[in-house]
Amino acid sequence: MPELPEVETIRRRLAPVLEGRRLTAIDVLDPRWCSPIAPGELAAAVEGRRIERLSRRGKYLIWELEDDIALLVHLRMTGTLLYDADAGESHQRVVFALDDGHELRFCDPRRFGTGELAIGPQALAAFLDARLGIEPLGGALDGPALRALAAGRRTAVKSFLLDQRRVAGVGNIYADEALYRAGIHPLRAAGRLTGAQYARLAETVVEALEAGLAAGGATIDDFRHPDGVYGGFQHEFLVHRREGEPCDACGREIVKFVVGGRGTYACERCQPRPRGARLVRPRAPRAGRSGPR
Ligand SMILES: [Zn+2]
Repeated sequence: MPELPEVETIRRRLAPVLEGRRLTAIDVLDPRWCSPIAPGELAAAVEGRRIERLSRRGKYLIWELEDDIALLVHLRMTGTLLYDADAGESHQRVVFALDDGHELRFCDPRRFGTGELAIGPQALAAFLDARLGIEPLGGALDGPALRALAAGRRTAVKSFLLDQRRVAGVGNIYADEALYRAGIHPLRAAGRLTGAQYARLAETVVEALEAGLAAGGATIDDFRHPDGVYGGFQHEFLVHRREGEPCDACGREIVKFVVGGRGTYACERCQPRPRGARLVRPRAPRAGRSGPR
């Protein structure tokens, strides 16, 4: 699933070719993409408008159009935006036509990706505030901020990091990588870390996201850049998807277990397990299906 670094990678590639252009037509091939808004209604709101800015908040890509109309695109599991892709590209859901003759295609095999509208700056702020917490690359994520967000929470710190209403943009990959870098077990209670641990975790969330961004994102589930190039961060994972491999720091075998339904990876020497906590092992994958990711 694309997380903050993957969405930001897309934004950085697309901003120079979209900003200042006019969106001449939007062809929603799959009405589920913008449901409950009808494709015709969405088209009427955005067509002909100039794209003033392509921004991002959490995992949302925000097309800021003239007259304060915002189109909020979420890639969810397998969505991607391809610039000037082949017209026969598979799993196309939406085609965006620009006034310079170029086209953008939203392709999404699993069809969970969405397009939503916000009309007016207040509607946009309300939309984002209801869904997203602190922006980790915005400079406001530090130890005291993390401690305040986690206060009183007994939930596993990994699940806490995945909650977009607390910290926006962190998903399964970057939560595992940040916790490993911080030496914190994913099952530790979110509200019970030390001040030093909150400070370290705030740093490692940013470090892990920036490392992902520097590598052009991680390619899992066929994530591609708008030009079809694949990101390379999956080759730099320290623990994620490295079950059975030795930890780079201490040599202990990396273990996989389940936290909040998500496949989770850790080195239990570098990340000591909290007293009394038990690991839930993933069920053996059935033929043709993978286990929790
Ligand atoms: Zn280790």
